[in-house]
Amino acid sequence: MTNKKIYSGSLHSHGCWTDYRNESEKKNFPFDLKSFVEYCSIIGRDFQAITDIMAHRPEKPEFIEKRYKALLKTADPKDKSYVLQQNKTESVIYLLKENKKLIIPRTQEILTDINFKHILAIGVEKDIRGGRNALETLNEIRDLGGYSILDHTFMCDAWNKEKVKKLYSKGLILATEWNGGLTFPAICDILPVKTPNKKSNHRVLSLEKKCGIPCIANDDSHSAEDIMNGAFTSYDFSDIDENLSLTDKIVSSIKSGKFKKHKKYSSFISPFLHVKYGAESQETFREEGLPDA
Ligand SMILES: [Zn+2]
Ligand SMILES: [Zn+2]
Repeated sequence: MTNKKIYSGSLHSHGCWTDYRNESEKKNFPFDLKSFVEYCSIIGRDFQAITDIMAHRPEKPEFIEKRYKALLKTADPKDKSYVLQQNKTESVIYLLKENKKLIIPRTQEILTDINFKHILAIGVEKDIRGGRNALETLNEIRDLGGYSILDHTFMCDAWNKEKVKKLYSKGLILATEWNGGLTFPAICDILPVKTPNKKSNHRVLSLEKKCGIPCIANDDSHSAEDIMNGAFTSYDFSDIDENLSLTDKIVSSIKSGKFKKHKKYSSFISPFLHVKYGAESQETFREEGLPDA
């Protein structure tokens, strides 16, 4: 298997509605390792993260997702068409017939104590508790040897420019995020209105241009359609040690500015699915439904 130099994928991807999927979603997108890998491979991804949501609302039990683990549990040792190699924070799957490999990093989206101040942690094995102060969360991720990305950075004014510059200069964040996700998707961007997502995406690009704070594009997918249509980034690993993990290679590529954003918004039907599944989740997860991340 030749070693590719350009790796494309999304680091912020919930994959699909694993926790409250209905029958038709199950049929469209069976959530088992082999189908997931084949799907991502067909659409040209070299990696695709599974992002676990970590939340803790006041007076509610802690909400910790285990989507990544759940997906890996579906690996079939009797299936000789692929080989699975599990490392600490990512798994490598070799599709033997196709002579292809796909890497699945486990990332975490941590919902802090402030609405929409969400932090995407990469390269951390330990579960990061949600519901805490953002600075405390960022410090913990750094202390554990991981990296933080401020996902959908300026959505709903979660952060301001000065604060982001300060966090970056202190080495507490690796990058901001151009978010192609579901909350305010394609349909809103076509209309001549300023949606929070569109505005946030404009602001991260301007911050990258003016202050050199790297910005990567992710799909923030919640359905198969989101992965297919959504944003991703291509990272150039040309001068990077081949033996490093995917996460370390991505970090190095971001730091040296060798990456290219593919700025796309998720599909038209995604907002309708979001509303539908959100409503369905209320039955399962009480009146508030699942944390929106
Ligand atoms: Zn998310
Ligand atoms: Zn979020």
